[in-house]
Amino acid sequence: MGSSPTFRTFFSMANNKKILVINPWIYDFTAYDFWVRPLGLLYLVSLLRRLPEVEVYFLDCLDRSHPGLPHAPRVKEDGRGPFPKEEVPKPEVIKDIPRKFSRYGLPVSIFRQELRRLPLPDLVLVGCVMTYWYPGVQAVIDIIRQEIGSVPVVLGGIYATLLPEHARRHSGADVVVEGPAEKALSIIWEILGRRSGDSSDLTISADDYYWPYYAVLRSKDVLPVETSQGCPLHCTFCASRKLNPNFKQNPAEEVIKFLEMSYRQFAPRHFVFYDDALLVNKDNHIKVILREIIRRGIKAFFHTPNGLQVREIDEEIALLFHRAGFRSLFLSQESFDEAILARCSRKSSPEALPPAMNFLTKAGYRPEEINVYLLVGLPDQEAESVRESILEVKKLGARPRLAFFSPVPGTSEWEHLIQTGKLKKNSDPLLQNKILFPYLWSKITPDKLLELKQLALGNKPSASV
Ligand code: SF4
Repeated sequence: MGSSPTFRTFFSMANNKKILVINPWIYDFTAYDFWVRPLGLLYLVSLLRRLPEVEVYFLDCLDRSHPGLPHAPRVKEDGRGPFPKEEVPKPEVIKDIPRKFSRYGLPVSIFRQELRRLPLPDLVLVGCVMTYWYPGVQAVIDIIRQEIGSVPVVLGGIYATLLPEHARRHSGADVVVEGPAEKALSIIWEILGRRSGDSSDLTISADDYYWPYYAVLRSKDVLPVETSQGCPLHCTFCASRKLNPNFKQNPAEEVIKFLEMSYRQFAPRHFVFYDDALLVNKDNHIKVILREIIRRGIKAFFHTPNGLQVREIDEEIALLFHRAGFRSLFLSQESFDEAILARCSRKSSPEALPPAMNFLTKAGYRPEEINVYLLVGLPDQEAESVRESILEVKKLGARPRLAFFSPVPGTSEWEHLIQTGKLKKNSDPLLQNKILFPYLWSKITPDKLLELKQLALGNKPSASV
């Protein structure tokens, strides 16, 4: 078994405080490594490294490159692939859903071995992304208690930010921190028994740009990068504003400096942009970055799984994307149904996709290389509306990709489900899982969804669904 890296450059000192950062398992009906990396925790590690007399250790339950795995998971050419998994009993609230439920990531035995091998931590930090993945946090903290005892455990991340009360009551963490990573710093410092006056490194100013600390990832083949935080738009199903109330772009020259340094240091094959709004202010931001990627010879593949705003794609950006090595483009069309777009998302329109496709194919992309996200499962959405959108995408030769709606707490769509009695404010977050809409509240039944999936995949289109 390989050693989990420590990453302070000084020698370990007896009185140094030891912090263990853990990326927990995913408990879900389905999960796939769609370039999934713990970006929030990599930012946190970067901040922790600023603290004096602190050693940081990292344990990633979703590490597909762990040498202790009984079978090496498959890795596609583009860096994606399945997680190892083990079926687990379904929690009571979802016991009637006719799908298997699994823990995705390292086997529990490997996690325990890693915990035993690492030095005893003074503090454990756990992050969690989706609200309905909280059983992974519970499982990690349970095992921490069994193996280590009463070490303080701090929970942060998107789940803790969106549902802090639930996290306080159910996660098992001693402290729940809402908000971005920098908010956790002074709390961590105090728990470690240091006074805030002991370090000026705790202050993060608005123009202080810090970056994810990749050295803790065992495999650096796929590196996540973010050039901005948040989004200036207000789609009714999206929590971007709640998580980052102020849209902020890092200066293009800082982004490119960081990309080049990471490329030279780690030689990744893939960079994955996690931005919510990569193309905003495109002339001064992404176009500058793309030109520099080309000029500096950064020869990696680039991916955009979070989806690009279709109407921002112009001739120049399409050419720059292609020349810079952007592959597997994902465009956020969401729907061709004007009523849905008017209600939920002003970022797209039915007229936006044809010119974008035209620019991209002229730049050298094959139509089938272009993936177009279409939302399915919105409250009151009809299967026919999704079907027509799929056919519009196929007419242009692109690949329709169904993006399943999940009611994220705090969004208008979540409120709507509560007002219409389909969810309760205090419903178990497991009911926010994106797999559940056909079983719980949608007009799109499981059978209709299956037909839509087959249509999107290219199987024979049915006359209606
Ligand atoms: S454009 Fe994307 S990130 Fe921005 S609010 Fe809409 S869904 Fe969220």
